[in-house]
Amino acid sequence: MKKHCAIVGINWGDEGKGRMVDLLTEQYDVVIRYQGGGNAGHTVINEYGKFALHLLPSGIFRPGVMNILGNGVALDLENLWNEMEQVRAQGVKITPDSLRISDRASLLLPWHRQLDGLEEARLKDRAYGSTKQGIAPFYSDKYQKKTLLAGELFDREALRKHAARLLEWKNLTLTGVYGAEPCRLEELLDWLETYGEKLKPFICNTTKLLTEAEKEGKNFLFEAQLGALRDLDYGIIPYTTSSNAIAAYAPVGSGLPSVKIDQVIGVVKAYSTCVGEGPFVCEMFGEEAERLRKAGAEYGAKTGRPRRVGPIDLVATRYGVQMQAATGLALTKLDVLSDLAEIPVCVRYELDGQETDDFPFPTALDRCKPVMTTVPGWQEDISGARRWEDLPKAARDYVEMVEAAVGCHIAYVSVGPEREAYISR
Ligand code: GDP
Repeated sequence: MKKHCAIVGINWGDEGKGRMVDLLTEQYDVVIRYQGGGNAGHTVINEYGKFALHLLPSGIFRPGVMNILGNGVALDLENLWNEMEQVRAQGVKITPDSLRISDRASLLLPWHRQLDGLEEARLKDRAYGSTKQGIAPFYSDKYQKKTLLAGELFDREALRKHAARLLEWKNLTLTGVYGAEPCRLEELLDWLETYGEKLKPFICNTTKLLTEAEKEGKNFLFEAQLGALRDLDYGIIPYTTSSNAIAAYAPVGSGLPSVKIDQVIGVVKAYSTCVGEGPFVCEMFGEEAERLRKAGAEYGAKTGRPRRVGPIDLVATRYGVQMQAATGLALTKLDVLSDLAEIPVCVRYELDGQETDDFPFPTALDRCKPVMTTVPGWQEDISGARRWEDLPKAARDYVEMVEAAVGCHIAYVSVGPEREAYISR
């Protein structure tokens, strides 16, 4: 295993990144979340139980691992604290020895969540399917330099003044644009005080910490949220998230812009899923979809919403591999396909009467139709397979077919949700 590694999603998110990070953290000293906020969930199953992590890095379960929330994340103090309490209640220790928060992380404030809900309500049936965690309003404000930094929590007087200026400005939008109630300064300050005091021991200059850790020869694991197709710049705009989910952003969002990432593990599901609105070319419907959804337990970790499902989409996956600059792949949930006599595969798109291998411009996606083929299934339980040879030939052929089509080595195949249920090749 090389020195610094990023684990990223190749598709629409929910590929099973959490379990791969949980597995691979063993080999790393520091695990860093570099973008996004509490709007997605990583599911991890280990000796402590089952967890849906939203903001906490998935290395939090490994004793001796330092977990970092970098400057690129949307830092919702309240949600983070509640998540820490939940995880602690299941027996996991979280102290400043295991978790640090960048003093340069911007704060997601209660009005960001409020605005997210107000805007989705205004859009009605044109809504983007936001998880209403305030992520889009938060990142808009961050880039306008109109929110607070975690490091500002240490100077109460200056914080009060800055918060008052922001509140005056934000209330113009809340009352003027949406006709909502204005925010009250005392409420905002109370919120900052309540959660700020709890989290202050974790906040520090993480750039300095990472610089020193690198000098000491420590290994870093960068953990992304969502997937390449949700990336703000390269995804299916506007149905993307509001931050960069690609590995190239990891140095910027982690706090160590000089870091060179040696290895990018892209996580791909053995079939496709997509939460929320937006084009999903290979989508399946009806009974066939319901069967796959049930077999894969495809319901959102954050929202419980049924995920849209489809066969593996080789066009989108190849594009995701390229955008992530993946050096190796983890193919997850292969076991979920075990019931199928024949497995559908989306091999190309048809756009305006022409077949294409290229992932099109976002607005052309609605005009694309999937070009399908089927490959033989294996119809036996593979969840106990731990070596490549344990897999039936049809399952090995499926893995090799995906590998050849997307042009990247599949280094891991997972066959169950448990930590050990995987094959390394
Ligand atoms: P993430 O956000 O990319 O970490 O993905 P999610 O947590 O949303 O989705 C992954 C889900 O699939 C979780 O419920 C995992 O426990 C489960 N899972 C991961 N790998 C496998 C696998 O190989 N087989 C099965 N059956 N479930 C898996």
